[in-house]
Amino acid sequence: MSAAAVQPVEVAEPDVMGALLTGVERYLRSEVDAAQIDREGAVPARVLAGLGELGVFGVTIPQRYGGAGLRLTDACRLAAALARADRSIATTVGLHLGLGTRPLVAFGAEGLKQRYLPRLASGEAIAAFATTEANAGSDLSRLATTALAEGAQLVVNGEKLFVTNGRLAKVFTITAATPGLGGAQRGSSLVLLESGDPGLSVGREERKLGLKGSSTAPLTIDGVRIEPERIIGEPGRGADQLHHVLAWGRTLMSAGCCGTARAALVKAIEHTASRRQFGRTLDAQPVVREHLALMGARLAAMEALVHDTASLEDDVPGLLQRSLAAKVFGSDGASYVVDTALQLFGGLGFIEESGMPLLLRDVRITRIFEGANDVLLTQLGTHLATAPPPRRALAPLVGPDAFALACSADVVAAALDAHREELSARHKIGLLRQTRLLNRLGRAVAWSEALDATVRAVDARRTTSRGAAALFSEVAARDVANALAAPFGEEVVSSALADLEPGA
Ligand SMILES: Cc1cc2nc3c(=O)[nH]c(=O)nc-3n(C[C@H](O)[C@H](O)[C@H](O)COP(=O)(O)OP(=O)(O)OC[C@H]3O[C@@H](n4cnc5c(N)ncnc54)[C@H](O)[C@@H]3O)c2cc1C
Repeated sequence: MSAAAVQPVEVAEPDVMGALLTGVERYLRSEVDAAQIDREGAVPARVLAGLGELGVFGVTIPQRYGGAGLRLTDACRLAAALARADRSIATTVGLHLGLGTRPLVAFGAEGLKQRYLPRLASGEAIAAFATTEANAGSDLSRLATTALAEGAQLVVNGEKLFVTNGRLAKVFTITAATPGLGGAQRGSSLVLLESGDPGLSVGREERKLGLKGSSTAPLTIDGVRIEPERIIGEPGRGADQLHHVLAWGRTLMSAGCCGTARAALVKAIEHTASRRQFGRTLDAQPVVREHLALMGARLAAMEALVHDTASLEDDVPGLLQRSLAAKVFGSDGASYVVDTALQLFGGLGFIEESGMPLLLRDVRITRIFEGANDVLLTQLGTHLATAPPPRRALAPLVGPDAFALACSADVVAAALDAHREELSARHKIGLLRQTRLLNRLGRAVAWSEALDATVRAVDARRTTSRGAAALFSEVAARDVANALAAPFGEEVVSSALADLEPGA
């Protein structure tokens, strides 16, 4: 998809987000109790209404439709702040701002925008996005939902699963196969449905491991008749549009991972500073100190990568590629930070009142939804194998603060590039069938991009800790080297699998 296909956004005043965040953070501190949301399995309606009044549901909706017209970087700051307070709220709002409203904002016709965006901006209507089906999960090309022309109308039929905001939403964007529409025999389209459409029904709330305050429900679409104008953007171009909106969704989700990781790290710092064992506080124990430093280094890299990714908002191919890295790196990183923080709480970390079990349960899904991490890593590796993104050496571009780090990042990137060239020469076109190799390549790309982002954050003085960046650079060099090591031999894997035959 060309960048030109995406409609430009208005640039808002620079201080708008800062003011909004101050109000939102104050509101979250006084009105939100994450443990209560978890226990009751819902975000209170008054909290959603309060957030709506503060303007959070319209942050990325253009001003002429009642939103704030802010950038993806701003929305990421908001997502991180919400997740730091409660991941269910962050998921509800993040889905609305990303997959929920982005299709309309980026691709919608003027009439559709005028009809829906003002209500979506105020929070009067919440948005959902439904693509997953029973047989179309990671493989989104297998859609069974159809929107077929019948006279002057479209008739939509299908079943969607695991729809975030399902029981809250008034506006649903769904993916449907639309054979023949827009001249594409096997094309799909993004289609807008309303909660009141006859034939559309939302199933019961799913019972989940975590994110209990976020609504997740199936959708049955049984002969819903709509006017063709409800197709968002060009008919038959759904696959391209889907990639774009998924990139937004993944970026916002990664920002939420930064918020979750920060909440866990702050708790770990406070706990280890006060808990005494072996005659001193936990944070005076060398091994604990190293854990805390590594957690901080990882979080700094996650925040840098999210910022870098969101800054690519106007460079659609760049955003698509980088958001894969941000999603995997962010969700893996948040899982690591939360799990390590829980460990540092000891037995108390296993007890609900410590707040750690909730963080752990909420973070688990982030490695699965918005694309399972292994699937995205293979995509990232495939991108690198087929069209390596141009990378300029960082060392000549940065100031003295970031020079040493930039040199390390350049060494890591050069090793990755040499490895890619060697693999391409050895496997030629067959490399695209070597998914285990591509998966490992993808992991190396994600870490290398996180390191590049960290260098840029230090150079631009967006990060306060050069120490954390230096530590991350060492970690990244080791992890990239590990990812570039040869995968386990096929024969070893197969023979180990043979021992796992059912009943063995
Ligand atoms: C709480 C929650 C909210 C959700 N919200 C939404 C939503 O709002 N809208 C929506 O459309 N969907 C939503 N989903 C669905 C979610 O995006 C999918 O569950 C996810 O994309 C994975 O698809 P799947 O569950 O079908 O897993 P599968 O495709 O069955 O994959 C299962 C596992 O197999 C492995 N795997 C599969 N293929 C490969 C491969 N090629 N290479 C390596 N490993 C592979 C991975 O480990 C993967 O996790 C949500 C799910 C949950 C649980």
